[in-house]
Amino acid sequence: MKVKSYAAQNSKSPLAPWTFDSREVGPKDVLIEIAFSGICHSDIHQARDEWGGSIFPMVPGHEIVGHVKQVGAQVKNFKVGDVAGVGCMVDSCRICASCKDHLEQYCEVGFVGTYNALERDKKTPTYGGYASHIITNEDFVLHIPKNLDLAAAAPLLCAGITTYSPLKKVGVTKGHRVGVLGLGGLGHMAVKLAASFGAEVTVLSGSKAKEADAKKLGATHFALTSDEATVAKLQNHFDFILDTVAAKHDLNQALQMLKREGTLIMVGAADKPLDLSVFSLIMKRRKIMGSLIGGIKETQEMLDYCGKHNITCDIEMIKAPEINDAYERMISGKVRYRFVIDAKTF
Ligand code: NAP
Ligand code: ZN
Ligand code: ZN
Repeated sequence: MKVKSYAAQNSKSPLAPWTFDSREVGPKDVLIEIAFSGICHSDIHQARDEWGGSIFPMVPGHEIVGHVKQVGAQVKNFKVGDVAGVGCMVDSCRICASCKDHLEQYCEVGFVGTYNALERDKKTPTYGGYASHIITNEDFVLHIPKNLDLAAAAPLLCAGITTYSPLKKVGVTKGHRVGVLGLGGLGHMAVKLAASFGAEVTVLSGSKAKEADAKKLGATHFALTSDEATVAKLQNHFDFILDTVAAKHDLNQALQMLKREGTLIMVGAADKPLDLSVFSLIMKRRKIMGSLIGGIKETQEMLDYCGKHNITCDIEMIKAPEINDAYERMISGKVRYRFVIDAKTF
């Protein structure tokens, strides 16, 4: 079928309208008419080939929500009219140890990304959510709780699960002090989720202008990372810091703010290597870990949790022609806090 989209034709071109042919609905496939699509900073990294290896033309977008329009003959969990979502993955090998553990994001042969990837046939490119429709195998389609505002739920498919998964993995709960470094799309969800788990949350930001928002989102404290006196007061303070910064920055400053045995959780994916002084780790037996999105089972768990606790994202709705301007505003740290594209405008 013909799908209308916005695509980058190469790493230097702005995104522009593009129509492509998608596969027909297979026996296990779900056809979703996209309603809203979030813009993640990973879209920018990939559209501009900052991580290397990008495949063009590229239709970015992995925070996708909409309505089911058609299902294949063997589809069991979705019916026409359902509200459904697709996140960062559309397939995986399904048989390796990670897939068996419901951790498809760590699939030993590599998961199939929603865009900028090849299907398991190793030749068909995948196209993402900046589009009118998507056809996805039902095992990688999520149910969106009906009580949530649909546009504000879209970014849960990446920003939500990417922050929920590591906070759960390390067991964030009441009594923990959690720092959230970088207040953008991921950061603002980390604040909401960590606060909902009972933690005392501090926003660690480079933008003084975000101080009032930090409190509204559920943080107890705000600290400006460029203010040395404030940072000095926070030495040995946090149990966990979730680092969502999208560019090269000072890891050692963050590590110094962790207590003995504290953990720095990296989710931000800067294109350049970050400098690490091992003394920041050694002197207090501190740890660094990374975390990649979350498995499909956990993504559904996160969506159900957000439905139960009425947690959504703070969004600014845009039309498709505004995507390139939105990218520039994200790069300068000015997003409040996620751009969501109205898919009717593709
Ligand atoms: P975003 O909305 O653009 O937010 C990033 C925040 O980082 C900014 O708002 C800003 O916060 C801070 N920042 C400081 N210096 C920056 C700089 N030079 N350039 C850009 N941001 C800077 O991005 P996002 O969508 O939350 O994504 C954040 C990072 O996580 C990206 O690298 C993305 O690729 C990555 N990511 C990783 C995963 C995963 O699975 N691990 C999943 C999704 C995204 P302040 O103004 O508060 O300082
Ligand atoms: Zn993302
Ligand atoms: Zn696998």
